[in-house]
Parts: sequence; structure tokens; C-alpha cells
Amino acid sequence: MLQTPIDYLKGVGPNRADLLRKELGIHTYQDLINLFPNRYLDRTQYYKIHQLQRNNAEVQIVGQIINIKEVAQKRGKRLVATFKDDTGTMELIWFRGQKWIRENLKLNKPYVIFGKVNWFNGVFSMPHPDMELKEDHEKNLRSAMQPIYPSTEKHANRGITNRVINKIMQQLFLETKGRFVESLSPNIISELKLLSKSEAVLNIHFPKNQALLAQAQFRLKFEELFYIQLQLILKNLIHKSKIKGLPFTQVGTYFITFYKEHLPFELTNAQKRVLKEIRQDLGSNAQMNRLLQGDVGSGKTIVAFMSMLMALDNGFQACLMAPTEILSVQHYNGLLELSNKLNISMKLLTGSSNTSERKEIHKSLENGELDILIGTHALLEDKVKFKNLGLAIIDEQHRFGVEQRSKLWKKGPPKSSQNETSSSATPPHILVMTATPIPRTLAMSVYGDLDISVIDELPPGRQAIKTVHRYDTNRLKVFRFIRDEIDKGRQIYIVYPLIQESENMDYKDLMDGYESIVRDFPAPTYQISIVHGKMKPADKDYEMQRFIKGETNIMVATTVIEVGVNVPNASVMIIESAERFGLSQLHQLRGRVGRGAEQSYCILMTSHKLSSNSKKRIETMCRTNDGFEIAEVDLNLRGPGDIMGTQQSGVLNLKIADLLKDKDILQSARYYAKKVLQKDPRLVSPENKTILYTYKQLGKYKNIWNYIS
Ligand code: ADP
Ligand code: MG
Repeated sequence: MLQTPIDYLKGVGPNRADLLRKELGIHTYQDLINLFPNRYLDRTQYYKIHQLQRNNAEVQIVGQIINIKEVAQKRGKRLVATFKDDTGTMELIWFRGQKWIRENLKLNKPYVIFGKVNWFNGVFSMPHPDMELKEDHEKNLRSAMQPIYPSTEKHANRGITNRVINKIMQQLFLETKGRFVESLSPNIISELKLLSKSEAVLNIHFPKNQALLAQAQFRLKFEELFYIQLQLILKNLIHKSKIKGLPFTQVGTYFITFYKEHLPFELTNAQKRVLKEIRQDLGSNAQMNRLLQGDVGSGKTIVAFMSMLMALDNGFQACLMAPTEILSVQHYNGLLELSNKLNISMKLLTGSSNTSERKEIHKSLENGELDILIGTHALLEDKVKFKNLGLAIIDEQHRFGVEQRSKLWKKGPPKSSQNETSSSATPPHILVMTATPIPRTLAMSVYGDLDISVIDELPPGRQAIKTVHRYDTNRLKVFRFIRDEIDKGRQIYIVYPLIQESENMDYKDLMDGYESIVRDFPAPTYQISIVHGKMKPADKDYEMQRFIKGETNIMVATTVIEVGVNVPNASVMIIESAERFGLSQLHQLRGRVGRGAEQSYCILMTSHKLSSNSKKRIETMCRTNDGFEIAEVDLNLRGPGDIMGTQQSGVLNLKIADLLKDKDILQSARYYAKKVLQKDPRLVSPENKTILYTYKQLGKYKNIWNYIS
């Protein structure tokens, strides 16, 4: 019945059906049912004039018109009526249709009026009110909560007004008798005390009152999120049971020696917990696909390193891929240091590795002499073949796409040794790390096929970074502050934006800035490094190394240093034109300081002209250091559409739920989806009949099996 084409609904002719299809994507009865109102006009409440607030709200009032007059204005005239109840007076205003109004409105008779209230010059007014004589109002039957459907002016101009939708919706309820097949299991319905499907659908379109409307919304949002979560979790389950991984059965000498003798510091509890989670994955028979989220400076690198040791202990190779050359070099140096007493062979491969280095690397990778390879996306080239890659780690996942992840999959060892010709590989375990946390609720929807670990604790002894906002006009004071910090032996970053479209102008800003800094901080007292995208990689690296070694005091750079760079002695981060950076970028940049024991500072320099969004970003940065909190604000400012991965995941096509506002419902939907699948992964029990049926109807069932084959 619900699959009936919309043309068959009484009152929908071929023309309207066409419009509904084209304009609103409504092809069937079902689609119409799922056209949910954006909002409702609450006509259950009556206001008194003295209760009106200056908030532009839509209100309903009972009163009488005591006089009507024409008022001349620039063009033409307007009609103004004085409207009165027992608490005060206000104005009703018409700019059009004045003749009809004059002739038909009755003075001194009770009316029910409805509309938006304006406040001007001490008087409340309502332009073009919806009005009805009180006696008629009482006779007419209608839902007191009037639904407003998502139709635009364009729709209206083509004849799909709110009233039309309302009418055909009523017709649909008549024809279907308002009975709709239940789509959730009796258990869930009774546990959550949900409305039945029919009650929910009725009350979403024709709410009896606020309470029932709220219940209907909850039920339908829950249902929508439940099936998305069901799909994601099922994908993950099938993945785990189908995709065999390389079992790392033992904790061996590398890991144990490192843990007992060379660990440079005590691991935080969060690091320990995450390592345990990874260890469990690696020891199971399934392939690990794990996302490690941890704020900047939370210590993801050591977790990555120790995971690699587990691979080595089981006779496998490991690799670590980072998005930039600088970061790869830094990882390489850092890991060399961590492993220097362990007799591990480790190499670096980047775009600037020369031919003989490459040859050497290719050879030692293939014959298994090389244990660990670190590098940029140069690792992904076809020529890079491992003897037996067991673990691939991707740092700063947000810089890479899903494709890169899957390229790494293919670099694993062949499926079985007897079958060397087979091109299919056993995928290595995959760990992706990101310091751009996305709120957990969103992560659940977007990366539902990844397991998630979170390092939610910073190493001890870190002092919170102090962040302040300064205007360009205060630059001299900022320079004085820099000088003091350098005198104390600290190092300083000064970062300029470099945004593709205006590259040349940005480049000029950077160079101008650099010159003025050189002027204010002259050699030989001060040494300054500069790093930007137009330099050769070798030069960049040279400058970077000088700064890392402490040979230079100030690093002037574009955002190339945004990701991962670790110089614990740097204690001040100055961000020029901070209003031009996004929140997650600002947070990443700030994360370059505060890595040592010293008090660190972040100074956000801006002009005086700030948009309200920029203000909010700057204000947020000054208020908190918490990456997850910042990610929430970012999400609220930008919407989920801008966040990596959301595009593919379907979470943006939600019909009624809202990822930002309905976090709690999402959480609960995920909980129940998990619970159902834990007990009955194939959804074959009688209890889950409705769920399986609905799931198939949604067309998602097939997708999943496609995904696997
Ligand atoms: P991120 O998570 O941003 O990649 P890193 O792994 O670069 O962070 O770690 C940041 C700094 O904190 C490094 O200097 C690292 O040596 C140090 N560190 C990591 N874990 C700990 C710990 N448990 N105790 C003390 N210092 C730590
Ligand atoms: Mg890092």
C-alpha cells in the first residue's frame, strides 16, 4: 500500500504528482509519510497583550478591533487597526489587500488572531495576521499544532503550498485509515515506552498536543538513527567475521624489553588502556581497523611505536605513514631514538629519497631485512612491496582519504604461502591516528566501520597553555613578550596563513612579516628560521632541524608546521591573521607548544574587523584547551557537512533526526542496535522479525552483502 505511486492519491493529479516528484522527491505514499514538518504553529496557547515579549515569536491572541485607519507612507498607504484585549492594545497592519480587509473586518467583535509580533517605537504590532471570528474558530475542527512542511517559496509558486501538502496528507490518512506497519520490535517499544508507528506518524503530522508531538518525534528520530547504527554495526561485525587478519599470538622480546628497560616515561592510564585495546585486536583472528583519537600532545606516537613492536615480535614488518615530509622526518628521528637499543632496522621513504636510497629500501623490504618503514604517501607507490607487512599506521588520518587506507590493505602478505600467485593479500592491521577529534557521537556515525580508541588524558606535568587574543595594533607589546621569553631560553613559532586562492598575497604577507621580525630581532643576538611551501624539501628540513636543535630562536612559518611537529622547548605560538584559520587548525597549531614543562602561550593576532564566526572561534580558543570541546563548537559553527567522512556516510541525509541536537537519541539508538545484534547477529529470532523486515525494506540489507563480496 505504501509503495503506491503518489499519482493514485485522491487530490493529486498528474501535474501535482510531477511537482511532488521533482520538487520534493515524493514518489510514493511512503515518501509523503516521510515528509516531516519543519516546525509547528502552536495554536494551543493563548497570549494576553501584556504578556508579549520582544522576541518575534508567533502568538495567538483573542481580542477586538476598536478602530481602523489608513496611514500614508512613502509609497501608497498602509492599513492600521487597533486591537485590544482586557490587558492592553496593539496594532494590526496590512500593506496589501486593504480594500477587502476594510470591507470585511468587523469592529468590536471577538477575533482570534495569529502571527508574528514586531516591536517598534514602544508598540507591538502584527503584520498580516491570520484571523478568524472567535465563534468560527470554535466551530472549525483542526489540529491545534499546525504543521509547517519544508516547502519553499518556489514550491508554493508552483502550487505546492503548505495547505496543499496538508490536504493531501489528510487524504493519505483517510485512504490508509492511519494504520502503518510497525517497524521496531516489541521489546524496544516497551522498554523505551515508545509510541506505536501509527500513533507516531499520526502525531507527527497532526499532533494532538505538545506532549504527543514530542513523543512522536522521539520515536521517529530513534527509528531513523537505529537503522543507521544497525547498518554500521552489522558492517563492522561482518567485516570482523569475514576478513581474516594476521594473528599476533605472542607478546615478545621487543615489546617486553622496551617496556621494562627503555620506556622513557610512565605511560598514562589512557595510553595503557588503548594499548590493551590494540593488543586485543591484534591477538584476535580478525583484521584490526582502529581509529585512535587523542588530542594534540596526548602521546599517540609511543602507542604507535609499541604497537609496531608487537608486529615485529610476531615476525611481521610495520609501517607508519604521515601526511608531510617534515612530520615523517620527525617521526623517523623520534622512533630511531626510542628504538636505538633494540636492534631494529628502520628506514625513511619520502618524495625526496633518491634513487639509490629507494632501491635499497625496496630490496630490504622485499627480503624482509627492513623491520619498519616510515614515510609520506610515497609508501603507497606500487614499487613499495613488503615481505610481510603486519601493521600499517596512518598518522593524522584527516589528511588522508579512504582510498589511501585501502591501498595499504593491499600491501599485506599473500593469503596463503602455497598460493603465491594469488593476487589477494591478507590485509595488515590498520591503525589510524588523529589529533583532530570529531565528537564521539559523530565519529560513531561517520567511522562506524572503525573501532574507536580514545586517549583522553594528557601526560602529567603539562601546564595548560594560556591563550590570548591581541589586535595587530598591539604588536609591539607582543614583540616585547617574545624577547622576554627568548631571554629565558624559550623558542617561538610565528605562523602565517597560506590559503591556496590567495597564495601570492599570503606569500607577500609572510615575507613582509619575516622582514619586520628580522628587523626587530637582529642577528647575531637572534637567529630566525623560516619554512614555507615554496621551499625545497631539503631546505625546509634544514631549517626545521636548526629549530629543533635549538640553534634558532624563532620559527617563522606557514601552516606546514600545523601537524605533529614536536619541539618541547618552544613555548610561544603566535598565529597571525588568526581570524582566517578554522578552529581545528588553530587547535592543531596551538598544540605545537605546551609540550615541555614550561608555561606556554598562544597569542592569536587579528585585525579589528572580525565576523561573528571568527569572534566565536577566537573566544573558544581563549576559553578552552580541550580538543573535544573545540570540535563540538566547530561542528556547531560549520555543520557536519564540512567534516571529513560525513559525505560518504549518509548521516547528512537524515529525514528527521539531527546529529547535533539528537546526540542522546543517537547514543540510545546505538546502544539498542548493538544489543539486538549481540543477541541475534543474523536477525532471525521471532522477536526481531519486524526489524529484519524493515531493514530489508530500507534497502540496506543488500548493500551490506555487496560491501563484503
Ligand atoms: P601526539 O599525540 O600529539 O602525537 P606525541 O606522541 O608527539 O603526541 O607526544 C607529545 C609529547 O609527549 C612527546 O614529547 C612525548 O615524548 C611526550 N609523552 C608522550 N607520552 C608521555 C607520557 N606518558 N609521559 C610523559 N611524556 C609523554
Ligand atoms: Mg603526533
